[in-house]
Amino acid sequence: MGGNPVRALRVALVAVVCGLVCALVVGLPGCSSGPPAFDKPPVRVVCTTTMVADMVKGIGGDRVTVDTLMGPGIDPHRYQPIAGDRQKIEGAHLVFFNGLHLEGKMTDTFEKSRGRIRGYAVTDGIDKAQLRHAEVDGGEHDPHVWFDVMLWSKCVGTVKDALTALDPAGKDVYQKNADAYLKELEALDKEIRVELARVSPQENRVLVTSHDAFGYFGRAYGFDVKGLQGVSTASESGTRDVKELVDFLGKNKIPAVFTETSVPEAGLKTVLDACKRDHGHTVQLVGGKDALYSDALGAPGTSGETYAGMIRHNVKVIVTALSK
Ligand SMILES: [Zn+2]
Repeated sequence: MGGNPVRALRVALVAVVCGLVCALVVGLPGCSSGPPAFDKPPVRVVCTTTMVADMVKGIGGDRVTVDTLMGPGIDPHRYQPIAGDRQKIEGAHLVFFNGLHLEGKMTDTFEKSRGRIRGYAVTDGIDKAQLRHAEVDGGEHDPHVWFDVMLWSKCVGTVKDALTALDPAGKDVYQKNADAYLKELEALDKEIRVELARVSPQENRVLVTSHDAFGYFGRAYGFDVKGLQGVSTASESGTRDVKELVDFLGKNKIPAVFTETSVPEAGLKTVLDACKRDHGHTVQLVGGKDALYSDALGAPGTSGETYAGMIRHNVKVIVTALSK
């Protein structure tokens, strides 16, 4: 181990020199190319996640075209930018991402494109006091805000304002669409509260999933939430996490646990086998077409292809499994 010190020094020197040259080139007037100029619609938008894309499509309507980097079933915590992603974000008029370190491995790409993109974290509009504390991929807040529908609605303003600033002629359209999107979210929130009330008594309101994506859901709708992995899937669950969860399921006779579309279910299967062995308690593994949508919407044609569809699907699955 340790490597060749001469080679390491050479690599370091090359990196420093490259950095200086780049800084100089970018710093020279006329040498740096800023974000692409906008003339008339469509506004070319790149979004990271499908949830963000749903909001941008809703507010942008016919005035935008949306390209989404992380499609259905893609885990944003582990997403490594692929060839062409950087050209896409630098070619877009606007870039919207979730922020709060959800897209942990894209930080470098955004950093490299600094000055050449108009990038907005949609969660910037949320008052920090409303965020859950969680140490995740270099951040200090839980990024899964879309699972509290009314908290997610606080992101609408950032998208509407960014679109309006770039394309002032569309101001009225963006305002009207944003108002309609907000109304839909309010109605959705009311609707799922009625549905979720069917899971009672309180000790049945326990949501165990592959990773800790549902903290905001639990806080907003009154569920105790536990994930096998932490808030990010980028760290593996340890044997202590497994043992704790096995004992929790066994002692509390939890009837069901839920897999997620963007996380492999093998980890949860191990937990259920151990629960049967150590506590003689069988837990239902809710998965397959009933897997919860966590960090990505569903493919076109599935129940989770829109944001509202994702939330409704999850609520239906949760109510069915826990109200037995
Ligand atoms: Zn997640």
